[in-house]
Amino acid sequence: MIPIALPLLGDEEADAARAAVLSGWVSQGPQVAAFERDFAALVGAPHACAVSNCTTALHLALTALDIGPGDEVITVSHSFIATANCIRYCGATPVFVDIEPDTYNMDPDRVAEAITPATRAIIAVHQMGMPCDLRAIAAVADRHGVILIEDAACAAGSEIRVNGHWERVGKPHGLIACFSFHPRKVITTGEGGMLTTADPELDRKFRLLRQHSMSVPDTVRHGSPRVIFEDYLTIGFNYRMTDIQAAVGRKQLERLPELVARRRALASRYTELLGNIESLRLPTEPDWASSNWQSYCVRLPNRLDQRTVMQNLLDRGIATRRGIMCSHREPTYSDADQRHDLRQSESAQDHSILLPIYAQMSNDDQLYVADCLKGQLRQV
Ligand SMILES: *Cc1c(COP(=O)(O)O)cnc(C)c1O
Repeated sequence: MIPIALPLLGDEEADAARAAVLSGWVSQGPQVAAFERDFAALVGAPHACAVSNCTTALHLALTALDIGPGDEVITVSHSFIATANCIRYCGATPVFVDIEPDTYNMDPDRVAEAITPATRAIIAVHQMGMPCDLRAIAAVADRHGVILIEDAACAAGSEIRVNGHWERVGKPHGLIACFSFHPRKVITTGEGGMLTTADPELDRKFRLLRQHSMSVPDTVRHGSPRVIFEDYLTIGFNYRMTDIQAAVGRKQLERLPELVARRRALASRYTELLGNIESLRLPTEPDWASSNWQSYCVRLPNRLDQRTVMQNLLDRGIATRRGIMCSHREPTYSDADQRHDLRQSESAQDHSILLPIYAQMSNDDQLYVADCLKGQLRQV
């Protein structure tokens, strides 16, 4: 069986988790602080705040910005549902705009059209690790005075060229970037998330909000020679990462450059192996973008039934996934205000499939996947 994805975890991670367990401090503590420093250094961010997952990271980002009822947040429907849900958690209104068909990312022209007087923020997703057109989206945000947040859940290790220099996603290029360390992403802590920002005041708010808005964190009280009573300043949350997760995350971060290099090699090879099939549309990487290839997504010709192709591949021992979901098509968003045309998003969901890609994938397995897919395309 060739899986769709496989995390790369080894003795280094197991030993780090063991050391954290045996240290006697297993909740948010010194490993979390060290993971934040390592992550900030890697992506070039002034501040990084670790949390329990990317969904809570996105929720904290919007909460720290006081986004709430009456506010509109422009984002894509074509994303994992957490992107839209975090807007609803705050009582704000998600306004869905369409994607560009070849990158599966937010179309900057559609963002410009969707701005209203109620627009407070834009959540731009780097879908499947492919950087979205941040320069164009940031220009729209600046022109209208709205906040830009990056949903970089899939994009640890992806890069974007800014003024001639390659910079990692997370620097950040918007006001805040949010990452996920779910096993389906390029590096994992089991569950985990991170917020990066250049704004020290926002970083301070994230740290308060993730820990019940407690005025003095437990780490400080624990080490204090004097008795300290804490206050609870606002309604906060328990969105902490544990030290066990952070210890694993630090080892995963060390592997990140190598993991991305391997995924990029696999993606190039898919492009080589599948490039001569006219009816198959391959994902494109703009010249200012360098994807970590969290997923490799191909567009089937309309004449082929997506589910049948996926089942035929599964029968041959190959796991695939259908194209990224569209939140507006889910029952829970049936009452959502659908002002904008989302036909590219729907078409991408209905006609794309994600192929297996993971660092340990052998060249033979990849060739087998490409051959089986070609076989499907030959059938009428
Ligand atoms: C995975 C994912 C999330 C949610 O991340 P979790 O860490 O699982 O909460 C959010 N947005 C996008 C685009 C994702 O792919």
